[in-house]
Amino acid sequence: MGKFLSTRFQGKDGYHLGERSKSRSIIKLNSNESPFPPSPEVLASVTKDLLEEQNFYSDPKSRRLTEAVAGYYGVDAGEVFVDSGSDVVLSYCMLAFGSGRGFCFPDVTYAFYKTFSEFFDVPYTEIPVKADFSINAEDYFNSGRHVLIANPNAPSGLVLGIDEIERIVESDPDRLVIIDEAYVDYQNESCIPLIQRHKNLVVVQTMSKSRNLAGARIGFAVSAAENIEDLATMKAAFNPDSINSISEAMGCAAMKDSSYMREYVKKIVFTREKTREELQRRGFEVLKSHTNFLFFKPPYLSAEEFCKRLKEKGVLVRHYTQPRINSYVRMTIGSEDQMKEVLSRIDSVLYKDPVALQA
Ligand SMILES: *Cc1c(COP(=O)(O)O)cnc(C)c1O
Repeated sequence: MGKFLSTRFQGKDGYHLGERSKSRSIIKLNSNESPFPPSPEVLASVTKDLLEEQNFYSDPKSRRLTEAVAGYYGVDAGEVFVDSGSDVVLSYCMLAFGSGRGFCFPDVTYAFYKTFSEFFDVPYTEIPVKADFSINAEDYFNSGRHVLIANPNAPSGLVLGIDEIERIVESDPDRLVIIDEAYVDYQNESCIPLIQRHKNLVVVQTMSKSRNLAGARIGFAVSAAENIEDLATMKAAFNPDSINSISEAMGCAAMKDSSYMREYVKKIVFTREKTREELQRRGFEVLKSHTNFLFFKPPYLSAEEFCKRLKEKGVLVRHYTQPRINSYVRMTIGSEDQMKEVLSRIDSVLYKDPVALQA
């Protein structure tokens, strides 16, 4: 740490990203990226004309992208806010709405929520999930604080029904409920239609997972126009031109080619269920998943040892230090071929040690 860092940030720690590797021999299943390339329409959207226009600033309102998102969900363009990744959108939500009342979120969830709260001095309460990692909606009714829930949740992969979300939203119209739908496209129902009835609901999504565009950095929020205006004010004060024009073009194309998204989601869901069965057959305790990853407890080995041995075999997966989940591993679902290969590497890791096998 240098001597100039503001005291309020001293000793604070950012979010720990999954290890990055571009090596072809490494199978990278630690950041919930898609193993598939973006849609051909997305590739075609990066034209020579677009590249030649890079001497100009991008459209600060990202009108085309905003309209593409609005069109897909059948909402007004004034009800959509876009920015460079949903992490940025979520941080603007925290900054815009968090001071005073603060936020509550599950104790087992996306680690960034706590990081944002700590860095932005937003008071927060962690509400314990049940022993099976599911969320009890009623725990949020009288929490006093604004609510932030990932649905489906990460890293559990579990989902809360739309009716349950609506009960939380209705329980206190004077506070905001933010639903992070990073994994909604994996055949779950979005609560975006609820914004027509409830002005205290903000739904956040990303193109990083199901639309195969993690590198393009595109996320968005859908809510009543008055909330979207507040987010736009935050953006105007920080980085008004944050979405570059190449990403905007790719995002528009991805939003319009939703049949490509659904086709590849179907492949992931199929491979996920097959992988889950294979792991269960080997004695793994695997939670049901509504996302593009699995959350499980390995047999014989601790999560840490399992991840270490798997890494030696060239497969990167995620484990946690937080006590409630430190015996669990999160593994992104890759292509069918990758998962076949990963299962065989898992076998070599599990059966490497005959003593462990007898235990
Ligand atoms: C991946 C993820 C995000 C971040 O998405 P970006 O748009 O890539 O910033 C946000 N929330 C959850 C729950 C995620 O898993």
